[in-house]
Amino acid sequence: MKYILDVHCHTVSSGHAYSTLTENINYAASVGMKLIATTDHAPAMRGAPSNLHFFNFAAVPPVINGVEHLSGVELNILDYDGRLDLKSGEIKRVKVVIASLHPICIEPADIVSNTSALVCAMENPLVKIIGHPGDPRYPIDIKKVVDTAVRTNTVLEVNNASLDPNSTRKGGESIIIDIIKECKKRSYPIILGSDAHYHTAIGDFSRAEKLLKEADFPDELVLNTSVEFFKSTLDI
Ligand SMILES: [Zn+2]
Ligand SMILES: [Zn+2]
Repeated sequence: MKYILDVHCHTVSSGHAYSTLTENINYAASVGMKLIATTDHAPAMRGAPSNLHFFNFAAVPPVINGVEHLSGVELNILDYDGRLDLKSGEIKRVKVVIASLHPICIEPADIVSNTSALVCAMENPLVKIIGHPGDPRYPIDIKKVVDTAVRTNTVLEVNNASLDPNSTRKGGESIIIDIIKECKKRSYPIILGSDAHYHTAIGDFSRAEKLLKEADFPDELVLNTSVEFFKSTLDI
C-alpha cells in the first residue's frame, strides 16, 4: 500500500459520524494502514463533544491491533481573524491539529475575508493542517494561502470526502488542483485526508489521488507515504 496513514478520521463522538474509534482502527489494520489519528469536530460544531473529550486521549492505547493511534482534533475557524474553538492550553493536549472552515461555524464571505481566516489560523503555531481548503463555498487567494502554509510550516489537505459527488463541498476540483500545483511549484508537501465519517472510508484516497495525478504531483511530497516523513514535517 502506497499511503499508510490517515489523520482525518471522525468517530461517533462528532455527533454526525457513525463508527467508533475501535471500529476505525480495526478497519485501518485490515487495509494495511500503519497510523491513524482521531480528529473529531471541536465543540463549536453542533453535536460535537465538549472540550473534555480532547483531554482524555491518554485512555486510548498508543498502538491498537498493530496500528499507531494519535490523538487529534478538527478545530473550527470561528472568524476571519482565525479564532479557534479550543483554547491554546486545550489544543496542546492533542497531537494532530486540523483547522477548517465549516458553514455552521463561519459564514462564507469574500475572497479577502476567507483568505484572512485561513492565513490567521495558520499563523497559530499549534495548527498543523488546514482541512479541506478547496471548498468552493469559501473562495480563497490560493497563492497567498500556499505562501502562508510554507512560511508557517502548515500543511494543506487534499480531502477525499470533498470530492464525493454527494459532498456539500462538491465542485472544488479546479481549486484543489490549483492548490496542488502551487504546492508542487514550491516543492512543498501536501497531506491526503479521508475525512471518514464511517470506518470504511478510512484510507480511501482514490478521488484525491486522481487530482494528484492530474497535477503530476510527486509521491515523495505526499506525507501519507511515510510515518517518519509525516511526523518530522509536522513536528509530531
Ligand atoms: Zn463532520
Ligand atoms: Zn471538516
